[in-house]
Amino acid sequence: MENFAGEPELQKLLALAVKDHNVLPLTGRCNLECVFCSHLQNPPGTRAYSFPPLPESLLQDLMTCLDPGHKIIIGESATRLREGEPFTHPRVIDILKQLRSFYPATPFQVTTNGSLFSEEVISALAGLQPLELIVSLNSASGEGRRKVMRDRMPGRAIEGLRLLKEYGLPFHGSVVALPHLTGWDDLRETVGFLEHEKALTVRILLPGFTRISEPASVPPPGTLRKCYRFIEDLRASGVRIPLLAEPPLVTDLDPTVEGIIAGTPAAKAGLAAGDRIISVQKREPLSRVDCYDQLVKGENPAVVFSRGGRAREAIIEKKAGERPGAAFSYDLDPKQVGRVKTFLSGKGQTLMLGSTPALRRWEIAAQKLDLQYLAIGAVASDYFGGSIDCAGLLTVVDYQAYLNGLTNMNQYDLILLPAVSFDYSGHDMAGDHYLSLYTCGVPFKIIG
Ligand code: SF4
Repeated sequence: MENFAGEPELQKLLALAVKDHNVLPLTGRCNLECVFCSHLQNPPGTRAYSFPPLPESLLQDLMTCLDPGHKIIIGESATRLREGEPFTHPRVIDILKQLRSFYPATPFQVTTNGSLFSEEVISALAGLQPLELIVSLNSASGEGRRKVMRDRMPGRAIEGLRLLKEYGLPFHGSVVALPHLTGWDDLRETVGFLEHEKALTVRILLPGFTRISEPASVPPPGTLRKCYRFIEDLRASGVRIPLLAEPPLVTDLDPTVEGIIAGTPAAKAGLAAGDRIISVQKREPLSRVDCYDQLVKGENPAVVFSRGGRAREAIIEKKAGERPGAAFSYDLDPKQVGRVKTFLSGKGQTLMLGSTPALRRWEIAAQKLDLQYLAIGAVASDYFGGSIDCAGLLTVVDYQAYLNGLTNMNQYDLILLPAVSFDYSGHDMAGDHYLSLYTCGVPFKIIG
């Protein structure tokens, strides 16, 4: 759906992006056409919305509803709104200046493809700190960016990273791994370039492709495994920058440090990649997410960690609320575990449905926490098809196909469905409402 600025649904989605995600959407338009862009692979009829650059007056209204207690995010998708390239908004710098005068101390996070970087833009951003960028570089070679992003002026992003370093603007690099298109050497050199230009971390994204993706863009089978091994090899070869695979390869809930950002409290405390945190303030974390949250929350948290089979201790000297600078893969949020536990009655089985990677983590949690009444069902994404495997893209049709395949649905007392599959009004990405699910009379709940 295009061009619906002013329509009630856009107003609603914009308000929710601000209120629920602290995202200020500037535009739904992008100036590039990446071969992996999820928006170009949606099956016809998918409810993902684009919108032109928003008028400044509307953005000023939205700004007033942001939460200054949390970082303000620009350039990321939220709700069903398509993320656009923020620097295509003709008034972007003025809008950021207004935002800074509204919220003098709140950190901003801006995600960009870097194609519109210039010294003028970067020097203006340097005056708006605290501000952190996430730069979708994908390839540090002109040929690579042209091929995978169809960027006709790739030098601007590549040179832009040098300027970010020069102007002291902190940034994270993001690289979509497409070794069948750009080659493993290009991937290795891109990570090396990001490390050289002092990126704080590098996210290596292993993309999913749908049933309508261009076949030539789709990586051959086995690429995901090879990418995980490639990341391990990079670490072993001495790459010091934290490398985070997305989706992460999570086979346990042990809080193992993926990497340490140079110069941060965790680096000063002597923590290193590969350390496994045993306790934070004498408490054993449930998961990596729990560990990270405890580290952020604590003032000078005391940690016990294991390195090379030996337990060691350290104090991470930092303020309460400050990020420690230790990077962990995402696994399981303890708040979500608490919510699921409230639905385990002990009288009968509760069936929780979701994507394969998420449910693999829940299987580990169910064993660790002895969640006896929890059954887990991994639902395939037939609507999007291809290699898509995330709960946000599961639809009513997918859930129904799974439920129809059960021999006895009545063995369950309750069915749990992830809230991320549905929007504020209960509709999935295909426009179907969860109330249209047929569950043979078994009650179901949507759980966040
Ligand atoms: S930069 Fe992002 S939004 Fe733009 S085409 Fe590439 S993936 Fe899509």
